[in-house]
Amino acid sequence: LQIHFLSLSLQAKMSRPVQARRLEGTDKNIWVEFVKLAATYSKVNLGQGFPDFPPPDFLKESFMRALNGENHLLHQYTRAFGHPPLVKILAQFFGKLLGRDLDPMTNVMVTVGAYQALFCCFQALVDEGDEVIIIEPFFDCYEPMVKMAGGMPVFVPLRPKAPKDGKLMSSADWQLDPAELASKFSERTKAIVLNSPNNPLGKVFSREELELIAGLCVKHDILCISDEVYEWLVYDGKDHIRIASLQGMWDRTIIIGSAGKTFSATGWKVGWTVGPNRLLQHLRTVHQNSVYHCATIAQEAVAQGFQRELELYGKPDSYFVQLPKELQQKRDWLVQSLDAVGMKPIIPEGTYFLVADISKFKSDVPDVPDSDEPYDSRFAKWMVKNKGLAAIPLSAFYSVAHKNNYSHFIRFCFAKEEATLKAANDILQKWKQEKTSP
Ligand code: PMP
Repeated sequence: LQIHFLSLSLQAKMSRPVQARRLEGTDKNIWVEFVKLAATYSKVNLGQGFPDFPPPDFLKESFMRALNGENHLLHQYTRAFGHPPLVKILAQFFGKLLGRDLDPMTNVMVTVGAYQALFCCFQALVDEGDEVIIIEPFFDCYEPMVKMAGGMPVFVPLRPKAPKDGKLMSSADWQLDPAELASKFSERTKAIVLNSPNNPLGKVFSREELELIAGLCVKHDILCISDEVYEWLVYDGKDHIRIASLQGMWDRTIIIGSAGKTFSATGWKVGWTVGPNRLLQHLRTVHQNSVYHCATIAQEAVAQGFQRELELYGKPDSYFVQLPKELQQKRDWLVQSLDAVGMKPIIPEGTYFLVADISKFKSDVPDVPDSDEPYDSRFAKWMVKNKGLAAIPLSAFYSVAHKNNYSHFIRFCFAKEEATLKAANDILQKWKQEKTSP
């Protein structure tokens, strides 16, 4: 009898392939790899994009009130497409920014962070064989999400122009070639993904650049998925322009936002989409059949945060005024630290990321010819293991075909406490001294 059971259990072992075909080629993930490396080796982590300072007190207090208050129903499910107080205030807030009346129930949907908002967009709007234009470098999940929906990503790069007079490069020096961009639109194009301010470069697209993109969207009748999670993090008096506010764009644009970036609370995972009902109704179908519902207490607290910000809009006490001021200072510190050691920074106009050129450090981490792994990836791994400083290789934000064209840069996150940025500066200074001393 025992032998019989043994042979049954051997037979029960699965041998058929288990992975769904749509996952092919999407199994590797930069964050899984680099978050683990940073956790193991880093003394100073400027890798993954999250603040190491707390969210504002008013937001934490709102959360505590929601958690401990009289309304115990805040511990239960709320409306599937967004907690009513949150969709109402988001409709009011974005209605004001866009200069149009928004219906909280049909023009706004709350998601589990901007990640799920993106996922809903691709699943709801991209069909088998549809092409989706992605501007490189890009937030890496766009590519696998398009592929999982059966779509075909089509890449177009921002091309760097050398700055004049030995000046440091700015993210504004990375631009689309209008003819190259136009050549990517075809009969099969369904959508373009725009991310301004852009992760990883920190580029804030100008009105002229947005008008170029908008003109092509209208001409070819395609959708725009506009990832604006860094909308409040814009520096040097620059403006964040919403492409949905341009001629002919509201009807074809989905705006994506994130309370994680807006209120420095990335762990809360509250995000949203804003757009016309004609598009959002299909996102709701994906949402109701997958996630269905997002954490109620976090939504309640974010609603109160937006209520406060609506009252203080444009005033010095507004968090949306204070946060970029503080981050601009942090950006400048990191720019100085990197410039001083010859790791040339590209000055970002927005976001909390900064890309730096590692060419001068090549002697420390020699190139391995014919290696499959881009140089910057090996460099970033070496740096965290040997110097304790974590950053992300820029090639992670490029498609496979283009990775090796941009493999001499790494991305740092500067949404960090002053002490963290000082510690990074100490590591860089020490490294430079070791390099120059015999
Ligand atoms: N879009 C961009 C450009 C991002 O950088 C991020 C987070 N790194 C997201 C979307 C996802 O945001 P969330 O944490 O709200 O899911």
